[in-house]
Amino acid sequence: MKAKIQVVICECCTEMPQLLDIEKLREIASSEEYVASTVTVDRACDGKELQGIVADALEHETDRAVVLACHKKDISPSLMKAFRRAGINEFLVEIVNIREEALLPHREEPDRAQRKGEAMLRAAIRRSSMLSPLEKSTETMRTSNVVVIGAGVSGKAAAEAAHKKGVHTVIIEKSGKTLKAPGVILPNSKLVGAKGYSGNFILRIQAGEKLEDLECAAIVIATGGGWTQLKGPLAKAVRDALPLYRFYEQVKTGTPPKGPVVIVDTPDPSGKTLKVQDYAWDDSLETAIELKKKHPLTDIYVVFQEMRAFGLSELAYKEAADLGVIFIRYDKSTAPKVDPKDPTRIAVKDFAHAELLGIRFGTLVFASIPANPDNQTIADALRIPMTADGGIRRGSIQRWPVTTPRPGIFVCGSAMFPKSRAAATLEGEAAGAMAADYVKKGKIEYGGSVAQVTQEKCSACLTCVRTCPYEAPFIGTASKAEIRVQLCQGCGMCVGICPSKAIELLNYTDDEITEESRVLLGGDF
Ligand code: SF4
Ligand code: SF4
Repeated sequence: MKAKIQVVICECCTEMPQLLDIEKLREIASSEEYVASTVTVDRACDGKELQGIVADALEHETDRAVVLACHKKDISPSLMKAFRRAGINEFLVEIVNIREEALLPHREEPDRAQRKGEAMLRAAIRRSSMLSPLEKSTETMRTSNVVVIGAGVSGKAAAEAAHKKGVHTVIIEKSGKTLKAPGVILPNSKLVGAKGYSGNFILRIQAGEKLEDLECAAIVIATGGGWTQLKGPLAKAVRDALPLYRFYEQVKTGTPPKGPVVIVDTPDPSGKTLKVQDYAWDDSLETAIELKKKHPLTDIYVVFQEMRAFGLSELAYKEAADLGVIFIRYDKSTAPKVDPKDPTRIAVKDFAHAELLGIRFGTLVFASIPANPDNQTIADALRIPMTADGGIRRGSIQRWPVTTPRPGIFVCGSAMFPKSRAAATLEGEAAGAMAADYVKKGKIEYGGSVAQVTQEKCSACLTCVRTCPYEAPFIGTASKAEIRVQLCQGCGMCVGICPSKAIELLNYTDDEITEESRVLLGGDF
């Protein structure tokens, strides 16, 4: 049956028409074979606009769509829901990120942005016409357990949020600390391995000498930061240095600190680690204000690389400055460091005056924290990516800030990068609630755009088995490669590396990619 394509052009809150000729894009779309309808909307993620898209698709009886908008991850969930209402298979919806790939890179050259947008549109229409509908399969979850890794601020909040939604939680906590939290708490235990897939995980837990398997449907990673691992060469010398959150507690309980107080934004007294994190700044300001109000005669220095006091925090910045807190911005090329010969003095190059300052301190406070070293084992076991700083990488910052790229695995708090207590608590609540919603579905979905082996071509060389980061391919009973569809994330690595060209990714076949590339490369941009 001939494809009938609906082309949706999103004006992204009027940003697009300022640089692109939307009318021309519409004309091009309408003149292409297979295009049955062209719609322009102000925001493709807006509920009312989506109703219009559905009505238009039904009216023109389209069976697939090309959407020119922004990042797929940002608009995909609501759009897909709408297209399902119009009876369109989700694998027949092509989302083209024209905003970030044509418009933004060529802001200064609108003609070029237009030509690139036109080529992307033609290529997407061509590709769309070649796609086949794909289906997903479902499987029942074997358990509805949510496992929370870490019993800190965010972990506790996650367990409480999941519990409120009626879901059983198990907290794995490395230390022996006891806490009041719902569900089961396993102290002195850690994750050392994992099998299974989203919705049906089997975690290997080590508790002392004992190893046990624990089934769960969803996981919340709440490992927090790595304060306890702070072991710089000067760690001994600055033995009394405190992480910000501990210092804050000290300030709150009224114990007067030994002045002067220096709050610095790197976690390394030797000046080797230049790790600066944004959320530490709100807490630095709050702490400095609190301290100055209680002990106005104590000198307080806040040493920072870049002050990121967002929104209303700007007022806190001003209040702290008015109270007499001294802010010193340092030059990135010279990280502040404690003098090994005199560990009561921190040397910092003042950015404003290009002057090397030596500040004597009574109390040194670190406002940033290193990543938790356990993240590596957890990321390896669960096969999820990490950030360059050693944190757990989240999914989409705008739409899914507490997810990871793998469904059913959530992350919160300083497991990603250092957060304030308030942010860690909120994220813990969000991750716990999302994990609970995930397990309450009771079923997992898999399949769709996954790898498929043509066994006649397979020479059982094991390359795909060794390459796949998710351990999806295996050599089956016929001595040929097979794919465990539940594990396949559709990344395409095995497709590119198979020496016998025996693997294809559904809806990303060689023919589809070649044809799309041919149209794109024919564009003049
Ligand atoms: S890489 Fe290709 S040839 Fe080798 S086992 Fe996998 S499918 Fe077979
Ligand atoms: S497409 Fe990616 S996830 Fe799927 S089997 Fe191949 S390498 Fe593994």
